[in-house]
Amino acid sequence: LMARLHNFCAGPAALPAAVLEQARDDMLEWHGRGLSFMEMSHRSPEVVGVVEGAESCLRRLLDIPDDYAVLFLQGGASTQFAAVPLNLVPPHAPVDYLDTGHWSLKAIAEAQRFADVQVVASSAASRYTDIPARSTWRCRDNAGYLHYCPNETIGGVEFFAEPEVDVPLVADMSSTLLSRSLDVSRFGVIYAGAQKNIGPAGLTLVIAHRELLGRARHTCPSMLDWTIASDNGSMYNTPPTFALYLAALVFDWLEAGGGLAAMETVNRRKAGTLYTAIDNSAFYSNPVAPECRSLMNVPFVLADAGLDGRFLEEASAAGLLNLKGHRSVGGMRASLYNAVPQASVDALVAFMHDFEQRCS
Ligand code: PMP
Repeated sequence: LMARLHNFCAGPAALPAAVLEQARDDMLEWHGRGLSFMEMSHRSPEVVGVVEGAESCLRRLLDIPDDYAVLFLQGGASTQFAAVPLNLVPPHAPVDYLDTGHWSLKAIAEAQRFADVQVVASSAASRYTDIPARSTWRCRDNAGYLHYCPNETIGGVEFFAEPEVDVPLVADMSSTLLSRSLDVSRFGVIYAGAQKNIGPAGLTLVIAHRELLGRARHTCPSMLDWTIASDNGSMYNTPPTFALYLAALVFDWLEAGGGLAAMETVNRRKAGTLYTAIDNSAFYSNPVAPECRSLMNVPFVLADAGLDGRFLEEASAAGLLNLKGHRSVGGMRASLYNAVPQASVDALVAFMHDFEQRCS
């Protein structure tokens, strides 16, 4: 059996080995039923039971209040960029967006097709290395909502406090959800693609205050309509049943490990290990303001970018995979999602130190 290597991919990301082992054991025959989970009707009590169990476990993990709907959808976070305005406001209605980087801009560009978008503030001037001070945001009282990205996966910029605003907060939590405890009641809508901390690609999670349902414009496609999804128990059409099954196993794994408070402790230690190594070296650097450095995505550059190729090649050979930064920013990025253990971070830091010694 080949050893599993250290995987720092930004997404699809590492999954817990225990989850993959369970999936392997269940592959041909799920719970003695004589067929795999993938081959069952989504209307069967088995599949409905797993999906309901996944929702209950997620509600416990995040302490989701009863007046929030939990929806399992498809199309990735990118589909929600359109679904958000289509579900929340009429055509041409004012909506506010904060711009802290690549994924903020994607959400803004899509919303501009469907609503009157105002960017309340942007950190473009700092090359997206900080969060604009709240006092500088130009919010509108009549905005349908304020959208932001609590963790910019590419820039490595994370919010550690929810913005104070007078309209519903809508958050793209793709790369931060389930990495630490969260007060769901502060949000109108939370959405996330699954392929970081939730499960495999192909599943999208939406958590929406029920007060915000029932507002979709009549031109909203049924498949994007949160109310239709909610009324149909996330089974308006055939859901991605295998991705749901794996997500259910991930949620069980998180709960068995002590839940999100325990996960947060582990994640803070992992990120601390890597940022300390970067800050203690003149060879590596991270440009992000210390108070908003992401726990999940750590971009860093070498003082000599001419060594980038060699760094990546040697890291790969040492079993440290997927460290190449996003094509838009270059350099390196280590993503430290829940299934990446401290031992992987320790191995990365040891490699970085060794590489620096050999190149200096
Ligand atoms: N938002 C954020 C913050 C992301 O990190 C990503 C994917 N990396 C997306 C949106 C797009 O997600 P998807 O590929 O699921 O559409």
